[in-house]
Amino acid sequence: MKQKMLVISAHPGDFVWRSAGTIAKYVSDGWQVRIICLSYGARGESAAFYKTGGDYAACCEVRKAEAAGAAEALGAEICFSGYEDFCLDMSPERIRKLAEDILAFEPDIILTHDTGKDRVNPDHMITGRAVLEAYETAAESGMKYAPVFGFEPMNPELCGYKADVYIDITEVWDQKVKAMECMQTQKKSRAAYEEKAVFRASYAAGRGGNKGCRYAETFSRFFPICEFDDFAV
Ligand SMILES: [Zn+2]
Repeated sequence: MKQKMLVISAHPGDFVWRSAGTIAKYVSDGWQVRIICLSYGARGESAAFYKTGGDYAACCEVRKAEAAGAAEALGAEICFSGYEDFCLDMSPERIRKLAEDILAFEPDIILTHDTGKDRVNPDHMITGRAVLEAYETAAESGMKYAPVFGFEPMNPELCGYKADVYIDITEVWDQKVKAMECMQTQKKSRAAYEEKAVFRASYAAGRGGNKGCRYAETFSRFFPICEFDDFAV
C-alpha cells in the first residue's frame, strides 16, 4: 500500500508557495498526496482578482481552478472545504470534521501551517492550531502516529518561525514552477518564493551538508523525533 501525505492549506496558494516542491518529490517517490484546502482565499489573498471587476463568487471559482491546476501539476489529489477566509472560523464542528478526514485518510505525514504568531495572516495560525486540535482528536480515536510539519511563512521573522527540516527540491523545481504558474491571481508572489528557495538551499548546501542543493523548502516540526537505534543523520 502507498504511503500517504496529507497537506492542509488555509488558502489556495499556501500549499503551492510553501510545499509544492516537497509534494512533487513525495509523489515522484510513489506517495499518495492529498491536499485539503480550507478556503478559496477570496477575501485575503485575491486583491489582484478584484481589479478585473469580478465579484466574490467568481473569485472563488477562479481561485479553486488555480489550486486544482496546481495540484494536478504536482500529481496530488485536492479537496475543498469551501469555508470563508479572513477570518477563517475553525469551530469545534469543523475541527471534528477535519479529525474525521484525517482518520479516514490515515496519513503517514501531515503538512500544514506553523502554529506560531503569524501577524501577517491570522488564517495561517488558525489553521495550524486547528490541525493540531484535529490531530489530537483523531489520536484519541486510535489514529496511528504521523509526524506533523509546519510550512515556512512568507515572513518567518515576524512569526517566530524556526526551520527544523530542509527539503532539497532541486530535482522537482520545474514542477514547482508549473504549480506556481497556475496561481495567476497571486503571480507577484512567484519571484519572492523562488528567492526564498534559493536562500534556503544555501543553508542546506552549507551547514546541511547537501552540496548539490539549489532549491529548498523548510518546515518546522510539531513533535520530537524519536529514533530507536541511531541518531538521525
Ligand atoms: Zn494563505
